[in-house]
Amino acid sequence: MAERHRAREEPEACSVSGCKEDGERSVASKKYQAAMPGVALKGEVGRRVHLCKSHYREYRKKTKQERDLDRAAW
Ligand SMILES: [Zn+2]
Repeated sequence: MAERHRAREEPEACSVSGCKEDGERSVASKKYQAAMPGVALKGEVGRRVHLCKSHYREYRKKTKQERDLDRAAW
């Protein structure tokens, strides 16, 4: 996956409330909120949320854990 250049538009800010980083990635907001129910998001959340590197990493970590739990559950 190549990193996208920011030439076209201004970068979206990270959608997590209180975070001032630029969003590096975007994920479906439903999925994000399912994985991270305790995280407050900024006002206008569309179908996708934008995440900075560190918040994206947290999200990935969480979803990975859940996959691992699913695998262990049987
Ligand atoms: Zn962030």
